Amino acid sequence: MPKHVFHSRCPWCEAVNTRASNAVPGEAVAPTDGDASLCFYCGEWAIFDGDRQRKPTAAEFIEIGEDPDCQKLRAAWAHLEGGRG
Ligand SMILES: [Zn+2]
Repeated sequence: MPKHVFHSRCPWCEAVNTRASNAVPGEAVAPTDGDASLCFYCGEWAIFDGDRQRKPTAAEFIEIGEDPDCQKLRAAWAHLEGGRG
């Protein structure tokens, strides 16, 4: 499975995220194909796929929405985003 460069373009807002890190302790740091990614700029989910990110499928959105770690990460992002205003 290919390793991803850390520069990736969000398929929702087109922002370039220059780093990626794992929010789940104890797992590999580098993302791999199929891993979900939260855009730091717009807070939308994307999926690592080869050398790019794509929008999640409907099934992937459901899986992300049901994942407690993803829920916590999205809540943390929303908290930070609310503090920027
Ligand atoms: Zn984005």
